[in-house]
Amino acid sequence: MIEVCRGSSRDPGRSSSGTVATGYRIGDYAIDAPEGVRYEGSPFVLITHAHCDHICGLTQYNSGYGCSEFAAVAITKPLEEATLCTHLGFEPPRRPPEKILHEGDMLEGDGFSIEVIETPGHSKGSLCFYVPDLKTAFTGDTVFGGQALPSCTLPTSEPGKLVDSYEKLASYEIEKICPGHGGPFSSKHYVESLIPMVADFI
Ligand SMILES: [Zn+2]
Repeated sequence: MIEVCRGSSRDPGRSSSGTVATGYRIGDYAIDAPEGVRYEGSPFVLITHAHCDHICGLTQYNSGYGCSEFAAVAITKPLEEATLCTHLGFEPPRRPPEKILHEGDMLEGDGFSIEVIETPGHSKGSLCFYVPDLKTAFTGDTVFGGQALPSCTLPTSEPGKLVDSYEKLASYEIEKICPGHGGPFSSKHYVESLIPMVADFI
């Protein structure tokens, strides 16, 4: 049901540096718009956060998209400190979202639903998307695999809020995580294990 869609950067050096994100397709929705990802048809794209490697595919196709209120401002103005587009050589999409996403919003798919969870920390306006029917969370850069913590020193990072975001995620029954870089992994109690790590880090 979940298709993993990896981007391919125009710049091979950038790809190997890990700045090309992973996109996912689930029914009529896609999670993030990494450069180089080609989604079949026109899924509605749910953006986890405004960093360039998660949004710049929006310049390549016309799918509608939804994002947080802050990400909408960051993408449309655009705000360099929030997208890092120029810094990393991406072209900002600039066009506005069709939908602003808020905590608790439920998006209905064909046989599944997607819940919006606000998870600031890595960046302002970060969202995670949870599919209760699959016990799966799409986490963008809020959660990586391998006990790695996300960067919290970027211009719009809010490190003090990351513990709260992890505690919120830990209240969900998550068995699988689809992170914004790399591929899906099994995750029972994984987010809980990050809480003491991030508390020490901050
Ligand atoms: Zn990011």
